[in-house]
Amino acid sequence: MSQREWIEKDFYKELGVSSDASADEIKKAYRKLARDLHPDANPGDTKAEERFKSVSEAHAVLSDPAKRKEYDEARRLFASGGFGRGGFSPGAGGGFSQGGFDINDLFGGGGAAADGLGDLFGGLFNRGAGGGATRTSSRPRRGSDVETETTLEFREATLGVTVPLRLTSPLPCTTCHGSGAKPGTSPRVCPRCNGTGIVSRNQGAFGFSEPCDDCRGTGSIIDSPCEVCHGNGVTNRTRTITVRVPAGVSDGQKIRLAGQGEAGLRGAPSGDLFVTVRVRPDKVFGRNGDDLTVVVPVSYGELVLGTTVSVPTLEGRVGVKIPAGTADGRILRVRGRGVPKRGGGAGDLLVTVKIAVPQKLDDPAVDALKTYLEAEKASGFDPRAGWAGA
Ligand code: ZN
Ligand code: ZN
Repeated sequence: MSQREWIEKDFYKELGVSSDASADEIKKAYRKLARDLHPDANPGDTKAEERFKSVSEAHAVLSDPAKRKEYDEARRLFASGGFGRGGFSPGAGGGFSQGGFDINDLFGGGGAAADGLGDLFGGLFNRGAGGGATRTSSRPRRGSDVETETTLEFREATLGVTVPLRLTSPLPCTTCHGSGAKPGTSPRVCPRCNGTGIVSRNQGAFGFSEPCDDCRGTGSIIDSPCEVCHGNGVTNRTRTITVRVPAGVSDGQKIRLAGQGEAGLRGAPSGDLFVTVRVRPDKVFGRNGDDLTVVVPVSYGELVLGTTVSVPTLEGRVGVKIPAGTADGRILRVRGRGVPKRGGGAGDLLVTVKIAVPQKLDDPAVDALKTYLEAEKASGFDPRAGWAGA
């Protein structure tokens, strides 16, 4: 009999009683039918024999209050299609196995798997019926991720650098190599949960899964714990790791180092280490994405006449030509001299020219400037010509 047949089978109808029949009514109905249909009373009658089996089956379930409750529950759920919550499994005591037929025969039947119901019941009932856990893999608890910070100089961050990081965090115990068991002993599989770390608790027709208390969800039991780590398999240790910071990293960026976080309990995988990079501002350079920015002070005369200025780069210096008549504040672009890019190449160097106004000049310079302003006016230059505020 497939599970669908079981659910769809009407045991009440088999016995000819209503679904709210009392225990007494069920008993009476069964006795009469059993007498009438008994093979001894109907030799050679296969039809009667079939009916006799069905009636016995129905009685086995309906005569037991707990089984009857489950059967009713299951049919009610089946009718409403409400199999969604938390799983469904037979109650404690091996489900229906005492009723003369075994739960595995009942639910192991073919045919129902095709409609999806088979999978559902197959998995759930196997677990509840004490036939051994279907899941054997234990669930080791992965170590936590660790976060830390490192501060880099501007040039270190833009060019890339290797920095040592000192960390204190749980690491696998060196005495027991992370197993948590005293050297020479080893943990054994938790008999209660069969190493799964999970147990099913049955409540009526429903089965709930919860972490196993005996092994605290780890799936294994340590009889003689390691004296150094007290059975945890991890100890706090300070270590120094070397972190290679790639070129072009910017302030606030995080670098992930897989497996460098906290060790997992009892040999479980380690977490990851996340390093937040802080970048100190530079006195000369600024950054705009992959472009490096720099401000170059120039004189008025240099902008008017044009010149070449020597500008610092990350790795040296570069001569930047300022054309005659360059406006104050203009940005000149030097290609490929900016911040190195991940995939190769580099951004640009953006040079901003900014006039430096002298606060103090000696007499010859002041005289020369006065003479110049006269000449400038004579040549027809008016700084406020075309100015909207004039
Ligand atoms: Zn356990
Ligand atoms: Zn240890």
